Amino acid sequence: MIVDEAQFLTEAQVDQLSDIADRYDIPVLCYGLRTDFMGRLFEGSRRLMELADSIEEIKTVCWCGRKATFNARVQDGHMVRDGAQVLLGGNESYISLCRRHYKAGMIAPADCGARM
Ligand SMILES: [Zn+2]
Repeated sequence: MIVDEAQFLTEAQVDQLSDIADRYDIPVLCYGLRTDFMGRLFEGSRRLMELADSIEEIKTVCWCGRKATFNARVQDGHMVRDGAQVLLGGNESYISLCRRHYKAGMIAPADCGARM
């Protein structure tokens, strides 16, 4: 069984998936984000980390080349730091950033070309 966008699962749903794996011996593979745009664990992702037999990280890279661990929400070219955890149908987008550039709010290199 494959579950995509697993960050949107509730804790109870992740528990149910673990029951499917244990009672029926069916492998369950979940794919999803670890944290939201504020850097907080999604409920479903937290429960998956608590219950999963194994966790594999798919690495993404910030524009600076460092490992990206944050998903910044971008609206009208600017990073948004608060709002609803799940926002469907909006005109926002998401950019993968390293922690340093997430904290600095830099979604792209500065115009002067300076490297951080
Ligand atoms: Zn960076």
